[in-house]
Amino acid sequence: MHTALVLGAGGFIGGHLVKRLKQEGFWVRGVDLKFHEHAATEADDFVIGDLRDQGFARSVIDRPFDEVYQLAADMGGAGYIFTGEHDADIMHNSATINLNVLDALHKRNIRRVFYSSSACMYPAYNQEDPDNPNCAESSAYPAAPDSEYGWEKLFSERLYLTYGRNYGMQTRVARYHNIFGPEGTWKDGKEKAPAAVCRKVASAKSGDAIDIWGDGKQTRSFLYVEECVEGTIRLMRSDLSGPFNIGSEEMVTIDNLVDVVADIAGKRIEKNHIPGPVGVRGRNSDNRLIQEKLGWAPSRPLREGLEKTYAWIEQQLLRNAA
Ligand code: NAD
Repeated sequence: MHTALVLGAGGFIGGHLVKRLKQEGFWVRGVDLKFHEHAATEADDFVIGDLRDQGFARSVIDRPFDEVYQLAADMGGAGYIFTGEHDADIMHNSATINLNVLDALHKRNIRRVFYSSSACMYPAYNQEDPDNPNCAESSAYPAAPDSEYGWEKLFSERLYLTYGRNYGMQTRVARYHNIFGPEGTWKDGKEKAPAAVCRKVASAKSGDAIDIWGDGKQTRSFLYVEECVEGTIRLMRSDLSGPFNIGSEEMVTIDNLVDVVADIAGKRIEKNHIPGPVGVRGRNSDNRLIQEKLGWAPSRPLREGLEKTYAWIEQQLLRNAA
């Protein structure tokens, strides 16, 4: 039986990845600081602990695994990453996890590891024009991410690639672009734009105005979590190291995003633009490289994923109200 280790399995993408690996018949160990908040884990073994602790990292990496997915990170949406208040934690916590995990994998001679970097590592100067952001993989340098979260991702993706270069580890690095879907954080400050917009629209009455950070003209693309997991697994099992973008090329403004969600909800929603942490003006995935090298790129329409996400968030609100 094939075996997999999913670090960050109590999180949003990790939870979906565990489900997919179980469907494929893998024996899966999940590791996280916490159990998944929105679904019972399907992992065969789920270990709670802190990967900042080197002894703990070694204790969960105690046997061979065919595939190791490293998704654990201290992260959140713009309200967590861009305010500056969490910068030391973000840098220290995530870098320590990655240093510990790679050291433990190397000592156990475990060779194949996937690392989830982020589009936040791309230089801010290429993302000032909302209509023409440049996020081609080759545009990463000279480096100038707009957040410490992005700098840590850049450091760690380089760290993974050095273990490939110097120790023959088969490292796989993806730069995820705004992943969304059911069973993700949807309230309390760490949620991202799609979940926040779905929650606000679901809570509003037709004709109400909802608060939107910034002028609403900033652009982004959003990738449904199932396609993210598909790309992750394909990259893991390829002979390519990356880094590769895993994201959608369907770029929308935040105002467009609100309009699509309002349409799904069947409500007329006004927008109240307020100051808030917004990040770069424009960002979109560039899928030319992954399409060319891996022969695959995400293709499903944004609306399809938003319909599923909206339905799930509406259900959470009803459950909370009951
Ligand atoms: P998430 O926050 O839901 O999951 C991360 C998990 O890591 C959490 O469950 C958290 O408890 C766990 N974790 C944090 N510190 C830990 C520690 N010290 N020890 C053990 N576990 C710890 O985030 P997600 O959206 O599932 O993202 C997964 C990965 O993908 C992260 O590395 C993130 O940076 C990256 N990424 C996500 C997105 C996105 O849009 N969701 C975009 C780009 C990159």
